[in-house]
Amino acid sequence: MSVGTEEALAARAEMAVYGVQVDAPVRRSKGAGPSDDGHLVVDGANATLPIVADSPYQVRDGAVFRNGLNLGLSVEPVRRPKFYDLTTADGIPYQQIALLHGKDVLATTVVQTCIRYDESTRCRFCSIEESLRAGATIAAKTPAQLAEVAEAAVRLDGVTQMVMTTGTTTGRDRGARNLVRSVRAVLAAVPGLPIQVQIEPPGDLSVLTELRDAGATSIGIHVESLDDAVRRKWMPGKSTVSLAEYESAWDEAVRVFGRNRVSTYLLIGLGEDVDELVAGAGRLIERGVYPFVVPLRPMLGTLARADGVMAPDPAVVRDVTARVAALLAEANMRGTDQGAGCAACGACSLLSAAGA
Ligand code: SF4
Repeated sequence: MSVGTEEALAARAEMAVYGVQVDAPVRRSKGAGPSDDGHLVVDGANATLPIVADSPYQVRDGAVFRNGLNLGLSVEPVRRPKFYDLTTADGIPYQQIALLHGKDVLATTVVQTCIRYDESTRCRFCSIEESLRAGATIAAKTPAQLAEVAEAAVRLDGVTQMVMTTGTTTGRDRGARNLVRSVRAVLAAVPGLPIQVQIEPPGDLSVLTELRDAGATSIGIHVESLDDAVRRKWMPGKSTVSLAEYESAWDEAVRVFGRNRVSTYLLIGLGEDVDELVAGAGRLIERGVYPFVVPLRPMLGTLARADGVMAPDPAVVRDVTARVAALLAEANMRGTDQGAGCAACGACSLLSAAGA
């Protein structure tokens, strides 16, 4: 017997928080961003889920079970990609340059350091420099390296889109111009590959046009919370960039890239009022910005994990996700229409499971 749609979303929210028992060969455990997971395909869609040995959710024979009940969700771990076996001419494993996310997304952190990584200023959910310290990546990826890996990942493993993020740099553009060069190089090697760039609001907004002219398909400008008190607590460094600056950057990005080609993360679980979070998501949608709501799952190496912060209640995750999905549906904004990026991939959020 399998469960119905409502229960399936509830189960997906619990799986996102409590994790699943499964052997997943493609994982990420440290790096930029808010989650720490194995990469799976659930009902044909990308999903990043924590791998937890004593989770009540078990993956067996391509299905998910809870207490012996088959939930009617098909699950396949993402296979280790072939490009992970290659190295550059100067001896750098491709896996240190970019990773497979989900079954078909190539993801890279072009600059793996951040000016805000000092303990007093870093975002408490981020561990961008930990994978560097662990020797799993290199500090800066050159455009030529990114082009070489992207070409191989598309040819050998069927990658369909790429995500380029960056740690914040000291320049006025906060690292955005470096992505212009990287996008150009990748598209010279793989013409037509959809690429999303992810940046902080750049001091000089003209770089948004440069990114678009270089060929980027979509852009993420990630605020994580719209509540200034929450921002100051969780992002002491990044919160010095005002919400007004974010709004200007989103509006210019929508003008340049188009409606629903711009997205932002909103994290569930930072202590923000839930109704305000949903209302804020509604205002973003009105601007043409896709609010990618994602449950916080504190990663190893983050200050949040060290503080013992827990993931949010799955009922809250389900509630926020369902309400934001309804607003997105009303506005006819689908994640896949972004063409590239986290909203198009969908793995770290439950929005696609809720129909967005
Ligand atoms: S949603 Fe974004 S961060 Fe998550 S797996 Fe997909 S591309 Fe990677």
